[in-house]
Amino acid sequence: MAWRQPEIKRTKTVCTYCGVGCSFEMWTRDRQLLKVQPVNEAPANGISTCIKGKFGWDFINSENRLTTPLIRENGRFREASWEEALDLVAHRLLEIRDRHGSDSLGFIGSSKASNEEAYLTQKIARLIIGTNSVDNSSRYCQNPATQGLFRTVGYGGDAGTIEDIQKASLIVIVGSNTAECHPVIASKIKAAHKQHGQKLLVADPREHEMAERADLYLRNKPSTDLIWASALARYMFDNDLADWEFLDNRVNNVEEFRRSLEPFTLEFAAEKTGLSRDELVEAAEMIGRAESVCLLWAMGITQHSHGADTSTALSNLLLVTGNYGKPGSGGYPMRGHNNVQGASDFGCLANVYPGYESVTDDAIREKWARAWGVDKERLSNHVGSDNFRMVQDAAEQKIRAMYIIGEETGLSDADLGNVHDGFTKLDFMVVQDIFFSRTAEFADVVLPACPSTEKDGSFVNTERRIQRFYEVMPPLGDSRPDWRILTELAARMGHDWGYTHPSQIMAECAGIAKIFAGVSYERLEGWQSLVWPVAEDGTDSPLLYTESFHFDDGRAQLYPQEWHEPAEAADEEYDLELNNGRVLEHFQSANQTGQGPRINSQIPNWFVEVGSDLAAERGIEDGSWVRITSRRDSIELQAIVTDRVRGNELFIPIHHSKPGINFLTGEHHDPDVNTPAYKEVAVRMEKLPRE
Ligand code: SF4
Repeated sequence: MAWRQPEIKRTKTVCTYCGVGCSFEMWTRDRQLLKVQPVNEAPANGISTCIKGKFGWDFINSENRLTTPLIRENGRFREASWEEALDLVAHRLLEIRDRHGSDSLGFIGSSKASNEEAYLTQKIARLIIGTNSVDNSSRYCQNPATQGLFRTVGYGGDAGTIEDIQKASLIVIVGSNTAECHPVIASKIKAAHKQHGQKLLVADPREHEMAERADLYLRNKPSTDLIWASALARYMFDNDLADWEFLDNRVNNVEEFRRSLEPFTLEFAAEKTGLSRDELVEAAEMIGRAESVCLLWAMGITQHSHGADTSTALSNLLLVTGNYGKPGSGGYPMRGHNNVQGASDFGCLANVYPGYESVTDDAIREKWARAWGVDKERLSNHVGSDNFRMVQDAAEQKIRAMYIIGEETGLSDADLGNVHDGFTKLDFMVVQDIFFSRTAEFADVVLPACPSTEKDGSFVNTERRIQRFYEVMPPLGDSRPDWRILTELAARMGHDWGYTHPSQIMAECAGIAKIFAGVSYERLEGWQSLVWPVAEDGTDSPLLYTESFHFDDGRAQLYPQEWHEPAEAADEEYDLELNNGRVLEHFQSANQTGQGPRINSQIPNWFVEVGSDLAAERGIEDGSWVRITSRRDSIELQAIVTDRVRGNELFIPIHHSKPGINFLTGEHHDPDVNTPAYKEVAVRMEKLPRE
């Protein structure tokens, strides 16, 4: 069969799903994907992948792909040429800017698109429109974690790499269903546990797989993580387990922080968290006596009304025990999307240019203006609206136009009734995506984009690792890579940037943003990668804080915290608490994983998990139909009776879209970062007379 070999193309790509950033080869013949082939050289994953990376590619050739621009006319969409669609978008964006001002437009960049595409999104918003109202989906997930790290250690990214996670003597997982949401990292932890006796401590209200495997499992009540983390920090000081050498030499604000821990006694923590005093002491002793600790956290911490504070408390605990700056230590917020880290790193945030350079710093503004060839006054000097604010502002008609790239805001944002209301009040809305999403239903123009398999580019994974991916096959139909669409749109708005390849965009950004100074496509060729910050000579930074923290004086900051009650808790009328999250097989709104039989067949029905005691009390069995009602809306689905949840807690996967869990979630959000409190939802449940 040797004659067949030349027809097979092997192309390096990076997974389009979660933030682990697995890379592998795709073997293709024309548009047919023959297989996904992991290779040893892959820096994040080696030869491991999960079901999504291996089999979740039916969407590439789905007949539901968008292949032609669409324009809404008389309430219906009609096909249009690229020329007509881009002319219309350019004209309307400029018209609205000129009539209502720069801040009347908002841009949501994609956490699935490339770094270069994130860079262009914010460049159009900032340079052409003149607004900092640009954001990405990290607002819905890891912004609170980033805020906690900014407060305490200075960089908004993981402290080390997946290799450090493997090296740690103790892994602490808090509010992260790692086995299903970051499966390859979970498999590396399982291997380290087996091969070199790495210990595992898990804190989570839901008993997921990693909780079952843990050496110590803390099943705390929802929204109480700040309390146990602060009580453990106090225990360290009170029991000679604080790392005083580290604190004296490298950390500020120790005494004030120590005083702030006064209320967090073990007794108070036990009363509020539902954990026993013995469990708390065992956890403190495990962490305090471990040689090195990596602490992983995710949406179970961040999607609360005080997720930034809890993230800060977790980072405080690591500082008190000296767990930053040495191999196998540090804080690791687990990034959700494949490029949610990169979308933030490359400037799709309302307060910073690429490389986390503040928009309110005059010298920085001047630097970016000079690099872009304009006067500094052309760039806005105030923080723009984030995703949450944009939608609120749309409802009040302060924002008149939105441009949404590859984000399913119309399903993924909380309190969807309010979001949809905001969309309908916009004067103009553009959606750029690979599918006609729920969000696209509200658009005036829909532009067909390409997935990563149909373009070149780079992503940043959860480790801050920048990796290149290559075009596996040409764009489907008349779809185009996002970077090309944005370049052509900019040209129509008077800015002919002339990019012909993403490498030129990366080179431009590296020439301006300090943390990317040494990044180039040559240094990222093939299986090579770079972990930011990258010095001009190409030296990268797999482990942060070995010498200093990212503050002017090089010292970390202990940051006092108070605990707040959750924004919405069970009461007499809504007596149950709804948790939600991912399952292994699907991703977010399932727009991609839901496009083919190989993944879809694994989860044929959507469900709510009900604890066995609650199920017995209410006569609910596996497969019973129930109605779940919050203060906003109701959804109906089938029950699974399981001890993964207990008491008055329920769990629903986030992926089902008809009608979608976010009709139940509410307006509550973290006041520090505007992340919705997806995990603080009071509901009631009725059994339905239906088989
Ligand atoms: Fe790797 Fe995540 Fe993709 Fe699975 S979904 S293959 S763990 S990057």
